[in-house]
Order: sequence, then structure tokens, then C-alpha cells
Amino acid sequence: MRRLATVEWAQSSQSPRAARDRIQEYPVSDRNAPDTAHITNFIRNIVDADLAADRFATRRWGGAPGDAAQHAAGAADPARIRTRFPPEPNGYLHFGHAKSVCLNFGLARDYGGVCHMRFDDTNPEKEEQEYVDSIINAVKWLGFGWEAFGQSHLFYASDYFGFMYRAAEYLITSGNAYIDLQSAEAMRASRGTLTERGIDSPWRNRPADESLRLFHEMRDGKHADGSMVLRAKIDMGSPNINMRDPAIYRIKHAEHHRTGDAWCVYPMYTYAHPIEDALEQITHSICTLEFEDQRPFYDWVLERLAEGGLLAQPLPKQYEFARLNLTYVVLSKRKLIQLVEEEHVDGWDDPRMPTIVGARRRGFTPEGFRLFADRIGVSKADSWIDMSVLEECMRDDLNGRAQRRIAVLNPLKLVIDNFPAEDEVICHAPNHPQKPELGQREIPFTRELWIEAEDFVETPPKGYFRLYPGNTVRLRYGFVVKCVGADKDADGNITAVHCEYMPDSKSGTPGSDNYKVKGNIHWVSAKHAYQCEVRLYDRLFRVPNPGKRQQEHAAAGHAPDHHSTELDESGKLHQHEEKVEHDWLDDLNPQAKQTIVAQLEPALRNAQPEDRFQFERHGYFVADHVDSRAGAPVFNRAVTLKDSWGKAGG
Ligand code: ATP
Ligand code: MG
Repeated sequence: MRRLATVEWAQSSQSPRAARDRIQEYPVSDRNAPDTAHITNFIRNIVDADLAADRFATRRWGGAPGDAAQHAAGAADPARIRTRFPPEPNGYLHFGHAKSVCLNFGLARDYGGVCHMRFDDTNPEKEEQEYVDSIINAVKWLGFGWEAFGQSHLFYASDYFGFMYRAAEYLITSGNAYIDLQSAEAMRASRGTLTERGIDSPWRNRPADESLRLFHEMRDGKHADGSMVLRAKIDMGSPNINMRDPAIYRIKHAEHHRTGDAWCVYPMYTYAHPIEDALEQITHSICTLEFEDQRPFYDWVLERLAEGGLLAQPLPKQYEFARLNLTYVVLSKRKLIQLVEEEHVDGWDDPRMPTIVGARRRGFTPEGFRLFADRIGVSKADSWIDMSVLEECMRDDLNGRAQRRIAVLNPLKLVIDNFPAEDEVICHAPNHPQKPELGQREIPFTRELWIEAEDFVETPPKGYFRLYPGNTVRLRYGFVVKCVGADKDADGNITAVHCEYMPDSKSGTPGSDNYKVKGNIHWVSAKHAYQCEVRLYDRLFRVPNPGKRQQEHAAAGHAPDHHSTELDESGKLHQHEEKVEHDWLDDLNPQAKQTIVAQLEPALRNAQPEDRFQFERHGYFVADHVDSRAGAPVFNRAVTLKDSWGKAGG
């Protein structure tokens, strides 16, 4: 099992937040891990074709992001391709981001390239250092890094504000942009529709020097937010509404988390993004499908600036893929924020949350996420992936590596009447049934044991082979026992089960398999058991599509939803699901977190932070690195051994 050597339990005096903050170091980028060269998808086909055609033969790298002159002065780019992962630092990464991380960093790894970690922090509002830190941790945890060719490739789009401003000045002087004084409403009204062309702004033909003067005044803080905007001058008659003179710079008197109050003008997202890619010499700029209609503008910006000699050739190209839609969770940042703020969950790293920090506490693994990304592939068609696919990836990964342990989750006392009260017999249990090299551990057998309450009944139903009066079972890794009765309290509840053991039946001793029994149950010594808190986590929502009428959803065979796209104030596209039939919060699964007190085998007392185990018969569990203390770990269930959701709703 790969261990995170630097992770230690928090001291009990520390707050959970402090405990979380200590988890800072990760295994470095796993560059020789899984062989994914066999994977094909439409993006890999594009990369293959580009490399075969030597499309990047002339690319140079100036040692850092920069303009045409800087890259021209550099040497041939050692990176065969450059991709980027460009989150906006306004939230925690979720499972959808994991798909994008695995895609972009995976391409770079497999093609001898580099993937840039870029914070797209051009919108001064909502962005915070806390999110920057958590995103860095999440990407590293997933097993990726940005150190390559002797340097780090961690960049901030806000470092390019100076260039973006100069590029805007160039667009003005070259007749490709103008300052518009229309109100936001007037601009929206004159944009036209899919069937009607837009109407030219009265300011569209204002002389370039006048626009330049106003643009400088904007930067100098002489004008109020929203009083004017810089627009690209393209074509108000374009069939693509995004080409009808989109805004490229706005006034926003706001403090930026990195540049402070150095700027009161900020670039719009759709203008900033292609420039960021070009300055960083990105070859393949991969984004989700809703940006497809923005591609002509992406190319327009880059071509104008390359014509002016500001940006290096060849220019980056944008490619779109289908975002991850996953059942039984929500993956919209807005909804995740609502879950946290309204306290439907215990924070961003609640193990029920579909965030990377949540998954980590849940006991999910980076390898499981990478397997998932490989299995679901990349396509251009929107579709839904069932949560069981992700869970199965986690099982497949954990099954091979997680050591086995014994845990009694719903304890009932078992007394071995013919075993002396002071005696102890040491039994041995293998740490992994298929991996003898992982060794075995000792488990003490004593007169009083804990067994699962469900492993005893007074009157057995047909096919029940576990304990009932008169029946014989094997106590796994221990002895064969015969049930001789049970104690009850005044209400008739079973309080203890009584058995007699066969001294010559100890597992692994000669003759022990002369006993033929059909039942095999697990147990822990009551005297030695480690009693602790265990959280049984399950899916966050009880239906595949929160907020939707489920029959309809099932009938449509998980057909893609109808999304509407909307631009926010900074010009970034957001997708909204249409047709919400009822409040999605009503579909939260009240059973998604159950806290119990369990009796575990003594070895688990020494579990280290983030150690993952299979609790035999129960599932995969992790020692929670936030709530545990040295010598007193608590465990979270990652996933059960088998899918109990089956075909339900899906
Ligand atoms: P918002 O919810 O504000 O629209 P976002 O989820 O798009 O934000 P970003 O920070 O812009 O978050 O995302 C970073 C990268 O992750 C982008 O390149 C984006 O395309 C990708 N990404 C986001 N959600 C998904 C998803 N569900 N599937 C695949 N990739 C995604
Ligand atoms: Mg988005």
C-alpha cells in the first residue's frame, strides 16, 4: 500500500481545520504510473495527427509565458505538446474537474508534453487564496504535477493583465475594438436573436484615438462601473451571436486577491482565455462543449493579435469534449456551495460531497479516479455516467491493495462456555487473501467475543447457515463452535449467544478441516476489541437525478438534459439545467451518513491517517485523517463490497 509518509495524526489540541491544513505533502507526480498508451479517443487522434504532420515543428519556448518576442528569443520547445488545467479559484474541485485533470495531465504525460496548472483568476470577485491552495492539493493528490523540463508550470492568469491591456490597446488602434457607452440593457437589446441580426451601436464607428483615450480613462479610474465597456468590432450580422461585437474589457472597482487595487478594469473571460493559452504556448486547449460556439471568437482574438505581431505562431487550438454528468450527486459549483452554506453537509470535505477533498476523506483513491477517467473516456456527446461506475473503479483499485481487517459493526456478545475465562489463544489472519507477501497478523481468541447481531437467529429461515441453537459454524481464522443457546432480557431481546468450541478445530492446524460446516462468521475478542466510531457513508442523493421526475429520466435512458448556457458578468459561460420539477434538496438521502459504534480487531487501533482497509464482509474503510487522534482512529466507509443500489432508478 502506498503510504503518505509525511502525514501524521493531528494533535488532540488542534482544531479539525488545523488537522486538515497539516496534510500538505503528497507523493510526487506519478509519471511512470498506469500505462495509458493504449487509450484512444478523438482528442488523442487529433494530437496524433498534429504530431504526425509536425504541426508544432517551429514552436519555441521563451522559458516563461510571454509574447511573440519573448518566445522567438527562446529555444525550440522541449515539450512536444502543452495542455492546461485552468480552474477559476472560486470553489473546491469536484468529480467533473477530476475528469478534466486526468484528461489534460494524462495527455501531457503520455505525449512527452507538459500540462500547465493555471489559475484563471481574471474575475476579481469570489476568488480566494483558500481555493488556490485546495486546488493545488487536489491536483497533486490525483497524482499529477507541473514540474517538467527543469521548471514549474504553475501560472496565474492575473499575471497577464498587463499584456491583455496592451493587446486591447492594439485592437483599438488597429480598428478592431471600440468603447461603447450604451447601457448593459441597451446592448443586450441590440444584440439581435438567432433569426434577427443585431443593431450597430451608435459608438461603433467612433475614431480609434477617442476609444483609446476613453480606455485609458477607464484604467485610470475616471469612470464608474458599467458606464462604458470595450467591445470587439466584428460583425453585428454574424449568425453566431458571440461574434456580434462581444465585450472584452469592463470597469470593475474591485480588489483582486493577487493584484490588489492595481487594476479597476478587467478583461472578459472569453477575451482573456485565448490570450492566456497563447502566452503559455498551449497547443491543445481543451474545454467543455458549451464553449463550442465561442471557438470562432477564440480564433478571432488570437489571429488579430498574431497579425499585429503580439502573439507567437502557431496559435493554440480549442477542442471541446462532453463534461462529466454523474448520477446521485450534483456537480454544479452553485449547488455544492448551497449544500455547504445551508449545512446539508458538514463542509466541503464532507465524505458525502462529490469534491476531491470529500472523496479523499471518504477513502476513495487517486488511482481509482484515474481508472474511472480511462473507463468513461472522452467524447463529444453529452451523456450520463452512473455512480456505480465510479464506485466499481474504487472497489477494483482497493481490492488489490487494501489489507483485510475484521470489524463487527452491530455487535452481539458470544460466550464460549467451555473456554476458560483467563485463557487466550493467538489466531492468525492473512492481510490479503491473494497476496501472501503482505503477511498475516495475530488476533486473540478469548471466552467472550463480539459477533454481528445478524449472525444469530433463534429460528432459522430456509438457507440460513449461521448461528442458531444446535448449529455448528466456523469462527473465521479461529475455531468451530456449536450454538447451545442464548440469553434474553425482559423484553425478549437477545443479549448474548452461548456456544461450545471444539479445541481441535483451530484453523490451520492438522485435522481442523475434518469439521464440515456451512457457516463461517467473523468475530473479535471482547477483551481486546478496539471500540470506536465508524461512519457508514452512502450516496448523497437517493435518486439518480436530484430535482427531476425519475420515471421520465429512466425512460429517456439517461438522455442528456437540456442545458441553457448563460454568460456571467465576467463573460464566462455557465450551464443551467432547465426544467426543474421539484426542489433538488428534497432528494437528499437521509441515510447517506450513519454513525455507529463498532468493535474492531485490535490491530486497527494503530491505523495511520488515510490507511485504507477492507473490513471483511462489509466494504472498504479509511482512517479519517481529520477526526482521528493518535491511537484512536475513526473510520469512514468508502464503498460497500457489492453494489446495493442495483438497477434502482437507473
Ligand atoms: P462554474 O461551475 O463556475 O462554471 P466550472 O465548474 O466550469 O465553474 P472551472 O474552474 O472553470 O469550473 O473549471 C476548470 C476546468 O474544469 C474547466 O476547463 C472545465 O471545463 C472543467 N470542468 C468543470 N466541470 C467539468 C465537468 N463536469 N466535466 C468535465 N470537466 C469539467
Ligand atoms: Mg463552467
